[in-house]
Amino acid sequence: MSLFPIFVKLEGRPVLLVGAGPVGESKIGGLLSAGAVVTVVAPEATSSIKRLAAEGKVDWRPRTFTPDDLKGMTLVVAAVPSDVARSIYEKARAQGVLVNSVDDPENCDFYYPAVVNRGDLQIAISTAGHSPSLAQRIRIELEQQFGPEYTQWVEQLGAARRDLFATAMDPDARKQKLHEMVAPGPEGPGLRAGGMVYLVGAGPGDPELLTLKALRILGQADVVLHDDLLTPEILELIPSTARVECVGKRHNERQVTQQDINRRLCEYGAAGKTVVRLKGGDGAIFGRASEEMDALRDAGISFTIVPGVTAASGAAAAAGVSLTDRRLGSSLVFLTAQRCKGNPPPNWKAVAELGGTTAIYMPGGHEDDLARQLLSAGLAAETPCFVISNATRAEEEIVETTLGALPGLRKLPAPAILLIGTVPSRPASAGVTQQNTGKMATDH
Ligand code: SAH
Repeated sequence: MSLFPIFVKLEGRPVLLVGAGPVGESKIGGLLSAGAVVTVVAPEATSSIKRLAAEGKVDWRPRTFTPDDLKGMTLVVAAVPSDVARSIYEKARAQGVLVNSVDDPENCDFYYPAVVNRGDLQIAISTAGHSPSLAQRIRIELEQQFGPEYTQWVEQLGAARRDLFATAMDPDARKQKLHEMVAPGPEGPGLRAGGMVYLVGAGPGDPELLTLKALRILGQADVVLHDDLLTPEILELIPSTARVECVGKRHNERQVTQQDINRRLCEYGAAGKTVVRLKGGDGAIFGRASEEMDALRDAGISFTIVPGVTAASGAAAAAGVSLTDRRLGSSLVFLTAQRCKGNPPPNWKAVAELGGTTAIYMPGGHEDDLARQLLSAGLAAETPCFVISNATRAEEEIVETTLGALPGLRKLPAPAILLIGTVPSRPASAGVTQQNTGKMATDH
Protein backbone atom coordinates (compact mmCIF):
# COMPACT_ATOMS: atom_id res chain seq x y z
CA MET A 1 0.00 0.00 0.00
CA SER A 2 1.40 3.39 -0.88
CA LEU A 3 1.82 6.10 1.75
CA PHE A 4 -0.36 9.19 1.68
CA PRO A 5 1.86 12.31 1.65
CA ILE A 6 0.58 15.31 3.60
CA PHE A 7 1.89 18.41 5.37
CA VAL A 8 0.08 18.83 8.67
CA LYS A 9 -0.76 22.06 10.54
CA LEU A 10 0.07 21.25 14.15
CA GLU A 11 -0.25 24.74 15.60
CA GLY A 12 -2.02 24.56 18.96
CA ARG A 13 -2.56 20.80 18.70
CA PRO A 14 -1.49 18.39 21.42
CA VAL A 15 1.27 15.93 20.56
CA LEU A 16 2.58 13.25 22.89
CA LEU A 17 6.24 12.26 23.03
CA VAL A 18 6.95 9.08 24.97
CA GLY A 19 10.63 8.77 25.87
CA ALA A 20 12.93 11.64 26.76
CA GLY A 21 16.40 10.39 25.89
CA PRO A 22 18.58 11.92 23.17
CA VAL A 23 16.40 10.38 20.42
CA GLY A 24 13.22 11.80 21.90
CA GLU A 25 14.97 15.13 22.40
CA SER A 26 15.84 15.26 18.68
CA LYS A 27 12.14 15.09 17.80
CA ILE A 28 11.03 18.04 19.93
CA GLY A 29 12.46 20.93 17.89
CA GLY A 30 10.44 20.14 14.76
CA LEU A 31 7.23 19.73 16.76
CA LEU A 32 7.73 23.00 18.64
CA SER A 33 8.56 24.94 15.49
CA ALA A 34 5.30 23.69 13.99
CA GLY A 35 3.55 25.13 17.03
CA ALA A 36 2.52 21.80 18.57
CA VAL A 37 1.69 21.63 22.27
CA VAL A 38 4.10 18.94 23.39
CA THR A 39 3.63 16.64 26.36
CA VAL A 40 6.59 14.43 27.23
CA VAL A 41 6.05 11.26 29.25
CA ALA A 42 9.19 9.54 30.57
CA PRO A 43 10.56 8.75 34.03
CA GLU A 44 13.92 10.35 33.13
CA ALA A 45 14.77 13.18 30.73
CA THR A 46 17.86 14.73 29.17
CA SER A 47 19.00 18.03 30.61
CA SER A 48 17.76 19.88 27.49
CA ILE A 49 14.27 18.46 27.90
CA LYS A 50 14.32 19.36 31.60
CA ARG A 51 15.32 22.89 30.60
CA LEU A 52 12.48 23.11 28.04
CA ALA A 53 10.09 21.92 30.75
CA ALA A 54 11.41 24.50 33.22
CA GLU A 55 10.90 27.18 30.58
CA GLY A 56 7.33 26.01 30.04
CA LYS A 57 7.96 25.00 26.42
CA VAL A 58 7.02 21.36 26.97
CA ASP A 59 4.98 19.62 29.66
CA TRP A 60 7.19 16.85 31.07
CA ARG A 61 5.48 14.19 33.17
CA PRO A 62 8.21 12.24 34.95
CA ARG A 63 6.60 8.79 34.97
CA THR A 64 5.91 5.83 32.70
CA PHE A 65 3.32 5.88 29.91
CA THR A 66 -0.33 5.05 30.62
CA PRO A 67 -3.08 4.72 27.96
CA ASP A 68 -4.78 7.80 29.45
CA ASP A 69 -1.89 9.86 28.06
CA LEU A 70 -3.32 9.33 24.58
CA LYS A 71 -6.55 11.17 25.29
CA GLY A 72 -7.07 14.10 22.93
CA MET A 73 -3.66 13.68 21.24
CA THR A 74 -3.33 14.49 17.54
CA LEU A 75 -0.12 12.51 17.09
CA VAL A 76 2.18 10.35 19.18
CA VAL A 77 5.93 9.96 18.84
CA ALA A 78 7.43 7.00 20.68
CA ALA A 79 11.17 7.17 21.27
CA VAL A 80 11.32 4.02 23.39
CA PRO A 81 12.44 0.38 23.01
CA SER A 82 10.45 -1.68 20.54
CA ASP A 83 8.39 -3.69 23.06
CA VAL A 84 7.15 -0.51 24.74
CA ALA A 85 6.55 1.09 21.32
CA ARG A 86 4.44 -1.93 20.33
CA SER A 87 2.10 -1.51 23.25
CA ILE A 88 1.83 2.28 22.71
CA TYR A 89 1.14 1.67 19.02
CA GLU A 90 -1.65 -0.85 19.71
CA LYS A 91 -3.33 1.37 22.30
CA ALA A 92 -3.06 4.46 20.10
CA ARG A 93 -4.50 2.60 17.14
CA ALA A 94 -7.48 1.55 19.22
CA GLN A 95 -8.10 5.22 19.98
CA GLY A 96 -7.50 6.40 16.39
CA VAL A 97 -4.29 8.35 17.14
CA LEU A 98 -1.45 8.17 14.61
CA VAL A 99 1.94 6.99 15.92
CA ASN A 100 5.54 7.26 14.86
CA SER A 101 7.91 4.91 16.67
CA VAL A 102 11.39 6.17 15.99
CA ASP A 103 13.47 3.74 13.84
CA ASP A 104 10.79 1.08 14.25
CA PRO A 105 8.74 0.94 11.00
CA GLU A 106 6.60 -1.97 12.23
CA ASN A 107 5.12 0.24 14.93
CA CYS A 108 4.50 3.31 12.80
CA ASP A 109 1.43 4.88 11.20
CA PHE A 110 3.52 7.70 9.80
CA TYR A 111 7.19 8.27 9.03
CA TYR A 112 9.39 11.29 9.36
CA PRO A 113 10.56 12.16 5.84
CA ALA A 114 14.01 13.48 5.01
CA VAL A 115 13.36 17.20 4.61
CA VAL A 116 14.95 20.07 2.73
CA ASN A 117 13.95 23.07 4.83
CA ARG A 118 13.95 26.44 3.16
CA GLY A 119 11.54 28.34 5.35
CA ASP A 120 8.07 27.85 3.93
CA LEU A 121 9.49 25.83 1.07
CA GLN A 122 9.77 22.29 2.38
CA ILE A 123 10.67 19.32 0.25
CA ALA A 124 9.92 16.04 1.97
CA ILE A 125 11.35 12.74 0.76
CA SER A 126 10.20 9.25 1.63
CA THR A 127 11.20 5.77 0.51
CA ALA A 128 8.52 4.25 2.76
CA GLY A 129 11.30 2.99 4.98
CA HIS A 130 13.06 1.02 2.21
CA SER A 131 16.19 3.14 2.26
CA PRO A 132 16.55 6.09 4.62
CA SER A 133 20.10 6.42 3.23
CA LEU A 134 18.75 7.03 -0.26
CA ALA A 135 16.34 9.61 1.14
CA GLN A 136 19.30 11.35 2.83
CA ARG A 137 21.32 11.30 -0.38
CA ILE A 138 18.46 12.85 -2.30
CA ARG A 139 18.04 15.44 0.44
CA ILE A 140 21.72 16.44 0.16
CA GLU A 141 21.45 16.72 -3.62
CA LEU A 142 18.30 18.82 -3.37
CA GLU A 143 19.90 21.04 -0.74
CA GLN A 144 22.58 21.89 -3.25
CA GLN A 145 20.03 22.60 -5.94
CA PHE A 146 17.74 24.68 -3.73
CA GLY A 147 20.00 26.89 -1.65
CA PRO A 148 19.15 29.00 1.40
CA GLU A 149 18.09 31.90 -0.84
CA TYR A 150 14.90 30.00 -1.59
CA THR A 151 13.66 30.90 1.90
CA GLN A 152 13.45 34.53 0.90
CA TRP A 153 12.27 33.86 -2.65
CA VAL A 154 9.33 31.83 -1.49
CA GLU A 155 8.30 34.69 0.78
CA GLN A 156 8.73 37.17 -2.07
CA LEU A 157 6.69 34.97 -4.37
CA GLY A 158 3.94 34.73 -1.78
CA ALA A 159 3.85 38.52 -1.42
CA ALA A 160 3.87 39.01 -5.21
CA ARG A 161 1.07 36.45 -5.59
CA ARG A 162 -1.04 38.18 -2.97
CA ASP A 163 -0.45 41.52 -4.74
CA LEU A 164 -1.55 40.03 -8.04
CA PHE A 165 -4.72 38.64 -6.52
CA ALA A 166 -5.47 42.02 -4.96
CA THR A 167 -5.18 43.63 -8.42
CA ALA A 168 -8.07 43.57 -10.85
CA MET A 169 -6.73 41.74 -13.91
CA ASP A 170 -7.57 39.11 -16.44
CA PRO A 171 -7.28 35.70 -14.69
CA ASP A 172 -5.32 34.21 -17.61
CA ALA A 173 -2.85 37.09 -17.58
CA ARG A 174 -2.47 36.62 -13.82
CA LYS A 175 -1.84 32.92 -14.27
CA GLN A 176 0.75 33.65 -16.94
CA LYS A 177 2.49 36.15 -14.65
CA LEU A 178 2.54 33.68 -11.75
CA HIS A 179 4.23 31.12 -14.01
CA GLU A 180 6.73 33.63 -15.33
CA MET A 181 7.75 34.56 -11.80
CA VAL A 182 9.03 31.03 -11.18
CA ALA A 183 10.57 30.45 -14.61
CA PRO A 184 13.85 28.54 -14.23
CA GLY A 185 16.88 30.74 -13.77
CA PRO A 186 19.82 30.30 -11.46
CA GLU A 187 18.99 33.44 -9.57
CA GLY A 188 15.52 32.28 -8.81
CA PRO A 189 12.25 33.95 -9.56
CA GLY A 190 12.31 37.44 -10.88
CA LEU A 191 15.75 38.34 -9.56
CA ARG A 192 17.88 37.54 -12.53
CA ALA A 193 18.02 40.81 -14.38
CA GLY A 194 21.46 42.39 -14.26
CA GLY A 195 23.34 39.15 -13.58
CA MET A 196 25.39 38.24 -10.59
CA VAL A 197 29.07 37.71 -10.04
CA TYR A 198 30.11 35.17 -7.44
CA LEU A 199 33.62 35.50 -6.05
CA VAL A 200 34.14 31.92 -5.03
CA GLY A 201 37.02 30.39 -3.08
CA ALA A 202 37.63 26.83 -4.25
CA GLY A 203 39.92 25.70 -1.42
CA PRO A 204 43.45 24.33 -1.71
CA GLY A 205 42.78 21.66 -4.33
CA ASP A 206 40.91 18.68 -2.94
CA PRO A 207 37.44 18.99 -4.53
CA GLU A 208 35.88 17.76 -1.28
CA LEU A 209 37.12 20.95 0.33
CA LEU A 210 34.80 23.04 -1.82
CA THR A 211 31.95 24.39 0.27
CA LEU A 212 28.44 23.19 -0.51
CA LYS A 213 27.65 26.74 -1.53
CA ALA A 214 30.60 26.89 -3.95
CA LEU A 215 29.54 23.59 -5.49
CA ARG A 216 25.94 24.67 -5.90
CA ILE A 217 26.82 28.00 -7.45
CA LEU A 218 29.35 26.40 -9.76
CA GLY A 219 26.58 24.14 -11.02
CA GLN A 220 24.57 27.22 -12.01
CA ALA A 221 27.35 29.14 -13.75
CA ASP A 222 27.01 30.61 -17.22
CA VAL A 223 30.64 31.74 -17.20
CA VAL A 224 33.59 30.68 -15.04
CA LEU A 225 36.81 32.69 -14.86
CA HIS A 226 39.39 30.71 -12.95
CA ASP A 227 43.04 31.04 -11.99
CA ASP A 228 45.97 28.62 -12.22
CA LEU A 229 45.53 27.16 -8.76
CA LEU A 230 42.44 25.18 -9.72
CA THR A 231 42.86 21.42 -9.94
CA PRO A 232 41.41 19.43 -12.87
CA GLU A 233 39.12 17.62 -10.40
CA ILE A 234 37.50 20.93 -9.47
CA LEU A 235 37.31 22.14 -13.06
CA GLU A 236 35.45 18.93 -13.91
CA LEU A 237 32.61 20.08 -11.67
CA ILE A 238 31.84 23.03 -13.95
CA PRO A 239 28.77 22.27 -16.08
CA SER A 240 29.59 21.61 -19.73
CA THR A 241 27.17 24.38 -20.72
CA ALA A 242 29.29 27.04 -19.00
CA ARG A 243 31.90 29.13 -20.79
CA VAL A 244 35.22 28.56 -19.05
CA GLU A 245 38.09 31.04 -19.21
CA CYS A 246 41.44 30.51 -17.55
CA VAL A 247 42.71 33.92 -16.55
CA GLY A 248 45.67 32.65 -14.53
CA LYS A 249 49.10 34.10 -14.94
CA ARG A 250 50.96 30.87 -15.65
CA HIS A 251 48.93 29.18 -18.34
CA ASN A 252 48.43 32.11 -20.61
CA GLU A 253 50.91 32.92 -23.29
CA ARG A 254 49.50 36.39 -23.44
CA GLN A 255 49.12 37.44 -19.83
CA VAL A 256 45.63 38.44 -18.82
CA THR A 257 45.95 41.58 -16.75
CA GLN A 258 43.92 42.26 -13.63
CA GLN A 259 42.19 45.13 -15.45
CA ASP A 260 41.20 42.70 -18.18
CA ILE A 261 39.75 40.28 -15.62
CA ASN A 262 37.83 43.12 -13.94
CA ARG A 263 36.48 44.23 -17.30
CA ARG A 264 35.34 40.71 -18.26
CA LEU A 265 33.60 40.23 -14.89
CA CYS A 266 31.71 43.49 -15.34
CA GLU A 267 30.79 42.78 -18.96
CA TYR A 268 29.44 39.29 -18.28
CA GLY A 269 27.61 40.54 -15.20
CA ALA A 270 26.06 43.42 -17.16
CA ALA A 271 24.93 40.94 -19.80
CA GLY A 272 22.80 39.20 -17.15
CA LYS A 273 25.05 36.17 -16.76
CA THR A 274 25.72 34.15 -13.65
CA VAL A 275 29.47 34.61 -13.43
CA VAL A 276 31.75 32.62 -11.15
CA ARG A 277 35.19 34.03 -10.43
CA LEU A 278 36.80 30.88 -9.11
CA LYS A 279 40.03 31.15 -7.14
CA GLY A 280 42.22 28.78 -5.21
CA GLY A 281 41.89 28.87 -1.43
CA ASP A 282 39.96 31.84 -0.14
CA GLY A 283 39.63 34.61 -2.69
CA ALA A 284 40.00 37.28 -0.02
CA ILE A 285 43.47 36.08 0.98
CA PHE A 286 46.19 37.17 -1.45
CA GLY A 287 43.63 36.85 -4.20
CA ARG A 288 43.12 40.41 -5.47
CA ALA A 289 39.47 40.12 -4.51
CA SER A 290 39.26 43.72 -3.39
CA GLU A 291 40.30 44.99 -6.81
CA GLU A 292 37.55 42.94 -8.43
CA MET A 293 35.01 44.10 -5.85
CA ASP A 294 35.98 47.74 -6.48
CA ALA A 295 35.47 47.28 -10.23
CA LEU A 296 32.12 45.53 -9.74
CA ARG A 297 30.93 48.20 -7.32
CA ASP A 298 31.95 50.95 -9.72
CA ALA A 299 30.04 49.22 -12.53
CA GLY A 300 26.98 48.67 -10.31
CA ILE A 301 27.12 44.88 -10.73
CA SER A 302 25.83 42.77 -7.84
CA PHE A 303 28.28 40.33 -6.35
CA THR A 304 28.36 37.73 -3.64
CA ILE A 305 31.46 36.47 -1.84
CA VAL A 306 31.75 32.77 -1.14
CA PRO A 307 34.71 32.11 1.17
CA GLY A 308 36.92 29.07 0.75
CA VAL A 309 39.39 27.01 2.76
CA THR A 310 42.66 28.88 2.57
CA ALA A 311 45.97 27.17 1.73
CA ALA A 312 47.29 27.60 5.28
CA SER A 313 44.37 25.57 6.64
CA GLY A 314 44.77 22.90 3.98
CA ALA A 315 48.52 22.74 4.58
CA ALA A 316 48.17 22.51 8.37
CA ALA A 317 45.65 19.69 7.99
CA ALA A 318 47.98 17.91 5.55
CA ALA A 319 50.87 18.19 7.99
CA GLY A 320 48.69 17.11 10.91
CA VAL A 321 49.26 20.26 12.94
CA SER A 322 47.15 23.04 14.37
CA LEU A 323 47.71 26.63 13.31
CA THR A 324 47.09 27.86 16.82
CA ASP A 325 47.64 26.39 20.26
CA ARG A 326 46.54 28.44 23.22
CA ARG A 327 49.31 26.88 25.31
CA LEU A 328 52.05 28.15 23.02
CA GLY A 329 51.01 31.32 21.33
CA SER A 330 48.09 33.48 20.48
CA SER A 331 48.73 34.81 17.02
CA LEU A 332 48.45 33.61 13.47
CA VAL A 333 49.97 35.74 10.74
CA PHE A 334 49.38 35.31 7.01
CA LEU A 335 52.21 36.82 5.02
CA THR A 336 53.28 36.80 1.43
CA ALA A 337 56.78 36.96 0.11
CA GLN A 338 55.48 38.86 -2.91
CA ARG A 339 54.43 42.43 -2.76
CA CYS A 340 53.23 45.19 -4.97
CA LYS A 341 55.84 47.76 -6.03
CA GLY A 342 56.09 50.51 -3.46
CA ASN A 343 54.61 48.45 -0.59
CA PRO A 344 56.88 48.37 2.45
CA PRO A 345 58.31 44.98 3.51
CA PRO A 346 56.65 43.21 6.45
CA ASN A 347 57.69 44.28 9.91
CA TRP A 348 59.75 41.15 10.58
CA LYS A 349 60.58 42.18 14.13
CA ALA A 350 56.86 42.46 14.95
CA VAL A 351 56.23 39.07 13.34
CA ALA A 352 59.03 37.48 15.37
CA GLU A 353 57.81 39.09 18.59
CA LEU A 354 54.24 37.82 18.13
CA GLY A 355 55.60 34.32 18.50
CA GLY A 356 52.64 32.31 17.17
CA THR A 357 52.42 30.80 13.70
CA THR A 358 53.44 32.54 10.51
CA ALA A 359 52.04 31.17 7.26
CA ILE A 360 54.03 32.45 4.32
CA TYR A 361 52.23 32.31 0.98
CA MET A 362 54.05 32.44 -2.37
CA PRO A 363 57.48 31.82 -0.85
CA GLY A 364 58.87 30.60 -4.20
CA GLY A 365 62.52 31.55 -4.57
CA HIS A 366 62.54 33.79 -1.50
CA GLU A 367 63.04 31.10 1.15
CA ASP A 368 66.64 32.04 1.95
CA ASP A 369 65.80 35.70 2.32
CA LEU A 370 62.68 34.97 4.40
CA ALA A 371 64.66 32.74 6.77
CA ARG A 372 67.40 35.36 7.09
CA GLN A 373 64.91 38.13 7.86
CA LEU A 374 63.11 36.09 10.51
CA LEU A 375 66.36 34.93 12.13
CA SER A 376 67.76 38.43 12.32
CA ALA A 377 64.40 39.64 13.68
CA GLY A 378 64.95 37.30 16.63
CA LEU A 379 63.39 33.91 15.83
CA ALA A 380 65.54 30.97 16.92
CA ALA A 381 67.24 28.82 14.28
CA GLU A 382 65.50 25.77 15.82
CA THR A 383 62.04 27.26 15.22
CA PRO A 384 60.01 24.52 13.53
CA CYS A 385 59.13 25.04 9.90
CA PHE A 386 57.00 23.07 7.49
CA VAL A 387 57.22 23.42 3.74
CA ILE A 388 54.04 22.06 2.21
CA SER A 389 53.70 21.74 -1.51
CA ASN A 390 50.43 20.90 -3.25
CA ALA A 391 48.57 20.55 0.03
CA THR A 392 45.45 18.34 -0.18
CA ARG A 393 46.29 17.25 -3.73
CA ALA A 394 47.59 13.98 -5.13
CA GLU A 395 51.11 15.43 -5.50
CA GLU A 396 51.22 16.66 -1.90
CA GLU A 397 54.69 16.87 -0.34
CA ILE A 398 55.51 17.90 3.19
CA VAL A 399 58.95 18.62 4.56
CA GLU A 400 59.49 19.29 8.24
CA THR A 401 62.58 21.32 8.98
CA THR A 402 63.75 24.30 11.02
CA LEU A 403 64.07 27.95 10.17
CA GLY A 404 67.87 27.65 10.32
CA ALA A 405 67.91 24.75 7.85
CA LEU A 406 65.36 26.28 5.45
CA PRO A 407 67.88 28.02 3.14
CA GLY A 408 69.71 24.76 2.37
CA LEU A 409 66.54 22.84 1.58
CA ARG A 410 65.72 21.59 -1.92
CA LYS A 411 62.92 23.68 -3.44
CA LEU A 412 59.52 22.04 -3.55
CA PRO A 413 57.19 22.49 -6.52
CA ALA A 414 54.63 25.32 -6.51
CA PRO A 415 52.18 25.94 -5.05
CA ALA A 416 53.97 25.67 -1.74
CA ILE A 417 53.49 27.37 1.59
CA LEU A 418 55.63 27.77 4.72
CA LEU A 419 54.28 27.30 8.22
CA ILE A 420 56.75 28.65 10.74
CA GLY A 421 56.58 28.80 14.52
CA THR A 422 56.47 26.78 17.68
CA VAL A 423 52.80 26.09 17.20
CA PRO A 424 52.93 24.08 13.99
CA SER A 425 55.34 21.53 15.42
CA ARG A 426 54.42 18.04 16.39
CA PRO A 427 55.97 15.38 18.57
CA ALA A 428 58.35 13.27 16.50
CA SER A 429 56.09 10.24 16.79
CA ALA A 430 52.90 12.06 15.81
CA GLY A 431 51.33 10.82 12.63
CA VAL A 432 49.17 12.49 10.07
CA THR A 433 46.42 10.69 8.24
CA GLN A 434 47.24 7.48 6.40
CA GLN A 435 46.73 9.26 3.15
CA ASN A 436 49.57 11.65 3.85
CA THR A 437 52.08 9.74 5.93
CA GLY A 438 53.77 8.26 2.88
CA LYS A 439 54.64 11.62 1.51
CA MET A 440 56.06 13.03 4.69
CA ALA A 441 59.76 13.72 4.86
CA THR A 442 61.89 15.14 7.63
CA ASP A 443 64.75 17.28 6.56
CA HIS A 444 66.96 18.78 9.22
N1 SAH B 1 43.84 32.70 -2.18
C1 SAH B 1 44.77 31.62 -1.93
C2 SAH B 1 46.17 32.10 -1.96
C3 SAH B 1 46.58 32.65 -3.29
S1 SAH B 1 48.26 33.08 -3.36
C4 SAH B 1 44.41 30.94 -0.59
O1 SAH B 1 43.63 31.45 0.20
O2 SAH B 1 44.95 29.86 -0.36
C5 SAH B 1 48.97 31.59 -4.01
C6 SAH B 1 49.75 30.89 -2.94
O3 SAH B 1 48.90 30.15 -2.11
C7 SAH B 1 50.71 29.86 -3.47
O4 SAH B 1 51.92 30.45 -3.92
C8 SAH B 1 50.95 29.04 -2.23
O5 SAH B 1 51.79 29.70 -1.34
C9 SAH B 1 49.57 29.02 -1.62
N2 SAH B 1 48.81 27.81 -2.02
C10 SAH B 1 47.66 27.76 -2.69
N3 SAH B 1 47.25 26.48 -2.82
C11 SAH B 1 48.17 25.72 -2.19
C12 SAH B 1 48.29 24.33 -1.96
N4 SAH B 1 47.39 23.46 -2.39
N5 SAH B 1 49.37 23.89 -1.28
C13 SAH B 1 50.31 24.76 -0.82
N6 SAH B 1 50.22 26.08 -1.00
C14 SAH B 1 49.17 26.57 -1.67
